[in-house]
Amino acid sequence: MDLSWSDSEQAFRAEARAWLEENLAAWHDQHGGEAAIASGDTRAGFAQHLDWERRLHDGRWAAVSWPAEHGGRDASLWEWLIFEEEYYRAGAPPRVTQNGIFLLAPTVFEFGTPEQQAHVLPRMAAATDLWCQGWSEPNAGSDLAGIAARAVRTEGGWRLDGQKTWTTRGAFCTHLFGLFRTDPESERHRGLSYLLVPLDTPGVTVRGFGRLDGDEGFAEVFFDDAFLAEDAVPGGVLLGAEGAGWKVAMATTGSERGLTLRSPGRFLATAARLVELYRAGLSDPTASAHAGPTAPGSTPSARLRERIAEVWMRAEAYRLFTLDTVTRLAGGAVMGADSSINKVWWSELDCELHEIALELLGPAAEVEGPWSKGWQFSLSGPIYAGTNEIQRNIAAERVLGLPRR
Ligand SMILES: Cc1cc2nc3c(=O)[nH]c(=O)nc-3n(C[C@H](O)[C@H](O)[C@H](O)COP(=O)(O)OP(=O)(O)OC[C@H]3O[C@@H](n4cnc5c(N)ncnc54)[C@H](O)[C@@H]3O)c2cc1C
Repeated sequence: MDLSWSDSEQAFRAEARAWLEENLAAWHDQHGGEAAIASGDTRAGFAQHLDWERRLHDGRWAAVSWPAEHGGRDASLWEWLIFEEEYYRAGAPPRVTQNGIFLLAPTVFEFGTPEQQAHVLPRMAAATDLWCQGWSEPNAGSDLAGIAARAVRTEGGWRLDGQKTWTTRGAFCTHLFGLFRTDPESERHRGLSYLLVPLDTPGVTVRGFGRLDGDEGFAEVFFDDAFLAEDAVPGGVLLGAEGAGWKVAMATTGSERGLTLRSPGRFLATAARLVELYRAGLSDPTASAHAGPTAPGSTPSARLRERIAEVWMRAEAYRLFTLDTVTRLAGGAVMGADSSINKVWWSELDCELHEIALELLGPAAEVEGPWSKGWQFSLSGPIYAGTNEIQRNIAAERVLGLPRR
């Protein structure tokens, strides 16, 4: 096994690093400094983050591993991992386009017709069309197969009825990729279809609502006899075959849980910052950045030091595991139920990284910004992309072959 990077991969890393450094500074300046950038889950912050997305696109960094004809730069998946490491190392902002680029796009590559790909992907990479995920409903979260929103075929398109909820950044997006029941006689996983829906379709109402941390990160989306024309998306609004929505959706969850949504770079950078936080406290034990379980003037407990080392190694282990995943994918493997194990790993790792930081900070965490905000968001990791209880069920039944009961 050769874990070293080739000369061209190292040159790619250097190019990414230089571009990020220059453009992050320019983006901060554009908005009056880094402190003036708001959360991408607020309306004002979303607009600022769109400027960043367009900058990424202009530099051909928005979707590095896609073919150039669709808005990418033909980079390999390994180079994408390198880019992600550099992205988080530089402290670049969360991608407000992520649900399109990292969730929908891999599925469009797998199931989309050439016409759908030619229309949807370049507009997504350019942040012209902004996609949100319309799967969960008030009575269908963990039990996703309980979807009740329906789409009925009619002349020239579909009539949509029902409600979606927990739609991340739905209030700021232009399009939704949704799961709808298209066979009224069907039950559970059968008879669902995966539809691409412009949110300005008459009869669609989007109502944003706030998260516990105060950001307006969510929306409910209502469909009230909405007419979705077949050609509302060139190439058609149906992604994959009619009635095959569950299979198409499972491809989306495979990439979401297994690779694209949370790459190792994010956790490696957080682990590195945690080590910095720890060291800052050691060099100045009276600083507020070390007021935690260690009284000023004393050093952190051996147990805390061990936890930091352990969590740092877990981030590194995730990196090595992901290199293996990418090698398997490059060899033709497809992401399967084992992506559920991956999702449990990264979401619990994120919680642990942030919990340790708050312990180090102690009462100072109350007034500190990034770590406490990051901790609040880390708590949602075991819920979104399918709860960890459900991922453990999937791993038990479909990876280990254990009985359902
Ligand atoms: C930050 C965030 C962003 C999200 N973004 C989106 C989005 O963009 N689009 C979208 O469609 N959805 C989104 N969701 C919704 C998310 O997919 C659901 O919250 C999740 O699937 C759980 O569904 P639920 O909230 O209805 O909880 P429930 O399904 O009601 O679950 C409640 C609890 O019961 C447990 N439970 C349920 N069934 C079982 C079982 N069979 N075995 C063991 N335990 C069980 C669950 O694990 C959970 O702890 C988002 C959620 C969050 C937190």
